[in-house]
Parts: sequence; structure tokens; C-alpha cells
Amino acid sequence: MSASAGSKAALQPSVLAPHSSTLNATKIARVPGNSWLVSAGPALSDFFGCNGPAQIVLYNWNKVRGVWIDRVYVVRNPKVMPRLSIKTNVHDLADVLGLTPFATKLGPLGGTRTVYRLQLCCTGKLSNCLRLCGGIGACVIDCPETNLLWHCCSARVVVSATINDVKSGIMRVTLVENHVPLGTELQPPPLLSLRPDTALKSTLVHDCIAGRETPITALLKITPALKLAQSAPLAAGFALYNGRYNPSF
Ligand SMILES: [Zn+2]
Ligand SMILES: [Zn+2]
Repeated sequence: MSASAGSKAALQPSVLAPHSSTLNATKIARVPGNSWLVSAGPALSDFFGCNGPAQIVLYNWNKVRGVWIDRVYVVRNPKVMPRLSIKTNVHDLADVLGLTPFATKLGPLGGTRTVYRLQLCCTGKLSNCLRLCGGIGACVIDCPETNLLWHCCSARVVVSATINDVKSGIMRVTLVENHVPLGTELQPPPLLSLRPDTALKSTLVHDCIAGRETPITALLKITPALKLAQSAPLAAGFALYNGRYNPSF
């Protein structure tokens, strides 16, 4: 992959982020079809956090359903070690895929098989996203589908990888549909409504697992910065106090 090819276009100045995250903008390449090739690992997480296009970075996303992985060909290496009390791995967008011994024996032609797929839908909250019932930012009165995750906006993001992609250490991100009809200006949620960056959440989880923090002290650690964010004036520098990177590292 030509890692730096699309980095300029992909920079998203409206969400300021730690330098360690914005550095990963160099690991993105724009490809046809409203798609991007992004290095697997933290660069993918940062693509959603700050380095991707506004239609992705400025919104919150839910999984439409769980990740699909063809386990004959790939394994998903957890970034976070299994929790001590719950025997499950903690996964996020920074996961790195690996090939099984079976997959490594395949020739180049066998490498075009898609082996990983994750579909995300915009939450549609605090925005002017067009809901499937026709409501803008909120459902029409008595909408029976108001609690359905995928009902609140048409925008979808698909993250996928073929065997060859896994070999090359990249993931494909495709933006499908849009939040609003063509010609309508995007009104994304307020910056403070952005969900915390996955790296920030992982750090806190790591600290709790390692015994450096308890859930309570981890919360206390971020509370002052969150309060500051709430009271910060709408002025230059405000964007740093967004919900995603606050507190900054
Ligand atoms: Zn509705
Ligand atoms: Zn939306």
C-alpha cells in the first residue's frame, strides 16, 4: 500500500487529537468507491477517531451486528489481554488480524477471499441525520422502530479485509450511503458528544486489569477533564475538548 497517498485528503482538522493519533494519518490511502485502505491496528482506530473523513470522524457508530471472521483463514489477536474475571477478550478497532497456517499456504489467487467484515451504523443522535421513518434527528411521532439501532440513519461504514489484505497488514473501510440527502448540509453531533477514543478506553481498562486503577479511580481520573470540557468556552482551542480525546494524553 502507498501509505501516504491519501493522507492529506483524509486529515480532519475539526477534531483535534493527540499527536500520537494524528501521526497515523500517514497510514491511509484513498481508493475509488468512497473507500480507504488503512493500516491495521491503532491507525484504523485513529481513522475513526480523527484521521478519516468528516462523515465518519464527526459521528458516533454502533455495530450493526458482531464482527464476522472466517476462522479457517484468520485469527484475531486481542490488543488487550483477557480480563481476569471474565474469560473473554476485549476487542476494538485496533485489533490486528493474523493468518492461520492453512491460509498461509494459499497462492495469490486464493487471497482475494473476504475473511473479515464489520458493519457499523451511525447512531443518528444529536444530528440532522435522516431516519428511515423520515424524521430528521428524531423519529416521527409514534414511530414503531425508534429503538432499532440501524433505523436512526442510513449511513453505514463497512470494515473488511481479504486474505491478501491481512497479509499486507491493511483493512478496507467503505462509507456506504450518507447521513443526509444530497444537497443537505451535515449537522453532526456536538463535539462533546463524541464517544471516547477506543485507545483511551483501552488504557483505562489496562490500568484496571493491572491494578493501577480501580473502576472508581479511573472514573475520578477523567472527571476533572470532562468537567473542564463542559465549561470550556466556544473559542479557538475548544475542539481539543471534544468527547473523544478528552482528557488528552
Ligand atoms: Zn423512526
Ligand atoms: Zn448519521
